[in-house]
Amino acid sequence: MALFGFFKKARKRVTGVVKQAIIQRHKNSGTVLFSDTTLRDGEQMPGATLDPEDKLRIALALEEAGVHSIDAGFPASSEADVEAIRRMIGVVKKPVLTALCRTVRGDVDAADAALDGNPPHKRGVSLFCGTSPLHRQHKLQKSQAEILELIRSSVGYASEKFEIVAFSPEDASRTEIDYLCQCYREAIDVGATTIGFPDTVGILTPEKARDFIRTIQDNVPNLSKALLAVHFHNDLGLAVANTLACVAEGANVVQCTINGIGERAGNASLEEVAIALALHPEQYGVDFKLDLTKLHGLCQLVAELTGLCLAKNKPVGGENIFATEAGIHQDGLLKNPDTYLPYRPERVGASGLTLVIGRHSGRRAVAHRLQELGHELTEDQLNAVMQTIKQAPKSQRITNELLKQFVRQATKAT
Ligand code: MN
Repeated sequence: MALFGFFKKARKRVTGVVKQAIIQRHKNSGTVLFSDTTLRDGEQMPGATLDPEDKLRIALALEEAGVHSIDAGFPASSEADVEAIRRMIGVVKKPVLTALCRTVRGDVDAADAALDGNPPHKRGVSLFCGTSPLHRQHKLQKSQAEILELIRSSVGYASEKFEIVAFSPEDASRTEIDYLCQCYREAIDVGATTIGFPDTVGILTPEKARDFIRTIQDNVPNLSKALLAVHFHNDLGLAVANTLACVAEGANVVQCTINGIGERAGNASLEEVAIALALHPEQYGVDFKLDLTKLHGLCQLVAELTGLCLAKNKPVGGENIFATEAGIHQDGLLKNPDTYLPYRPERVGASGLTLVIGRHSGRRAVAHRLQELGHELTEDQLNAVMQTIKQAPKSQRITNELLKQFVRQATKAT
């Protein structure tokens, strides 16, 4: 028995050393890790409920896009979450699968059972506990000291069962900063490998978000032993901006959802954070492992499976992102697509440019479309077609069929 105890301790020490080496490697590499929470926080959005089979499809698409980890669900909260995670085990192999837990041992046990079968370096738990005065007094009715004890005991327990343990003080952005840092120090002390900074009600601005990150870095000396993850909600429309500001300040992990779905105004959009980082490498100085060409398809898939339609002007995934009706823009785009685009459609896997023919279109775009349709018109005929287009009812989209009809009228008249 004594020998068994010795091996157990020795193995724990080796695991601890390996774990620290992995964290150090992540921190030194200057890489930002994408942690996707579409299937958990995203699914919390009213109307976004997904079946386990849908979740598996999205998880596989996220794997293909190269996310580092997937917040796969909250096993203690529902059987459907457990079922979805069980379907992912052995199928979704590359990302780390994590499960959400309250700071309750039973939740950690439920996560342990749900993630059973995944190798230790591909499964983790993400514990959360409200720390702000509002949460302490009104939700939990616990003192600061009681919550610290809860963190110590539950995170300590989780780190006996998992190599990857994240702890997030819920409502961090409304928690007294000294106390917040104390929570982080305690959590890392008992084995947290990631600490999260959630702006649970989405109230921060980029400047304030940066201040928080700086203060945490200055006041949590054992932060060298853990990754720092940020999680922003979009109540002020600033979730992506806040996320980017924290990356600039040294955050290691960004938690996002596809299409920005999530509680209330949603979460930071993964695709928007990714394209901003990709377009400004000199500003953020980070590397990341996402395959951007998968983003457009991912946006469409999540919209289809959740039934939450994308706004036409939604960055990256929206229908109008690579479409224009304005004459001057169409003329420029035909000469060189970069004149009126921040990036080419193929960069995010979209199918291409759409020059919408309507009242705002110019001659060049109309002639180009007619040529594509096999019509070579004289100047007068083109003028007549342009005239008809300009007289079309407001907001009418001129389809190819309608355009052919205009051509028939014009060729008959001239
Ligand atoms: Mn959240």
